[in-house]
Amino acid sequence: MVRAEDVHKSFGQVEVLKGIDLEVRPGEVFCLIGPSGSGKSTFLRCINHLEKINAGRLYVDGDLVGYRQSGDKLYELRDREVAMKRRDIGMVFQRFNLFPHMTAVENVMEAPVQVKGVGKGEARERAMSLLERVGLADRAGHYPSQLSGGQQQRVAIARALAMDPKLMLFDEPTSALDPELVGDVLDVMRDLAESGMTMVVVTHEMGFAREVGDNLVFMDDGVVVESGHPREVLTNPRHERTQSFLSKVL
Ligand code: ATP
Ligand code: MG
Repeated sequence: MVRAEDVHKSFGQVEVLKGIDLEVRPGEVFCLIGPSGSGKSTFLRCINHLEKINAGRLYVDGDLVGYRQSGDKLYELRDREVAMKRRDIGMVFQRFNLFPHMTAVENVMEAPVQVKGVGKGEARERAMSLLERVGLADRAGHYPSQLSGGQQQRVAIARALAMDPKLMLFDEPTSALDPELVGDVLDVMRDLAESGMTMVVVTHEMGFAREVGDNLVFMDDGVVVESGHPREVLTNPRHERTQSFLSKVL
């Protein structure tokens, strides 16, 4: 579903991704951990067309991200083409970014109606069933300011799912939450994983990575230091950098 081959990304003189190679298979929960500044968010943003890579190849669902290949030539995608590609990828950020002037159900309906041209009645019905799926059917008429952080984050997940994404990206979805609200969000993510969704999850929740993850990658300073089955990496890290990082977070 995602394949990175020697992906490089720089901001000005600063190289942030220094040759990332990895593969996320369909239906897999792929967890990404690493210290602050190691390039985790940047990598997710590259997958989601929010940043352009400088070198290497990045594929989502078999298609090159940002480019169209014709023979051995590459052409940059136009904005409209990028927008089409991005429809297939759902993203949930650390900070809930719901539209503040819309209720929960309106937030979830917005993209299908505006982007896909789905009728309002149908979109509302679908949004209600997604809110039910994340345990918030009774909060459909609430505005974001009337919801807890955990509830807002679950609405954000429902909103991403409303576009029927092939892939869901999570960037530390629980790290801005009060501890007692984290569990509800992780439960929703666990259900989503069980439903077969392909997920790339940047997280500090090692319990989630261990129980739900199929693969765990430890990134440091723009490279993949170590990867493998989460239980293996978490209990038996091979590299000194992984050991030192885990000793601080576990
Ligand atoms: P954290 O755990 O703190 O979220 P991260 O692993 O997600 O860290 P990134 O946000 O990917 O790290 O940042 C990696 C590096 O790239 C940092 O040094 C950051 O300052 C730099 N960086 C990220 N975005 C930009 C940008 N738009 N312009 C310049 N530098 C950037
Ligand atoms: Mg980050």
